[in-house]
Amino acid sequence: MMNKPDTFPSPVSGLLDDRMWASIDNEAMALPFCDACSKAIYPPANCCPSCFRFDLTWKTISGRGKILSWTRFHRSYLPEYPAPYNVIAVQIEEGAVLVSNLAGGEPADGDWIGKKVRMVYESFSGKMLPRFQLSEESDPRLSLNGDDASCANVCRHGACHGLDS
Ligand SMILES: [Zn+2]
Repeated sequence: MMNKPDTFPSPVSGLLDDRMWASIDNEAMALPFCDACSKAIYPPANCCPSCFRFDLTWKTISGRGKILSWTRFHRSYLPEYPAPYNVIAVQIEEGAVLVSNLAGGEPADGDWIGKKVRMVYESFSGKMLPRFQLSEESDPRLSLNGDDASCANVCRHGACHGLDS
């Protein structure tokens, strides 16, 4: 579990990052999407790295994703990040891979890979940062009687979870 730092270094902003950081400050992270191939582009760029088109549209991402990989750092590299702390690679629903931290509880079964997560925004010294939390445990709408597996076999839509809106 990562301790919350009292101070936080300013993000190093590239030429095209300001719009993304502004959207994070508004707790609705947005990324550029390619108009031609629909891919989400992270980090933000002015050209699609897949098809090299320049027509991009900024869209708010869903914040939903799954953990692709994770590690726990046992050495501090910045005083604001005291060890130990976790680092996760999350593939968001829109396809891009973000590197962040898992906030809140860690997987009870110790198995991180493939776990569904949702983005949460945490304020550090007045700067908003995107992090992730486990989604099954934190969103009671995703669980019917606390048994996701059996529910998924019966219900393949979100109607009984209030997710069909
Ligand atoms: Zn493209």
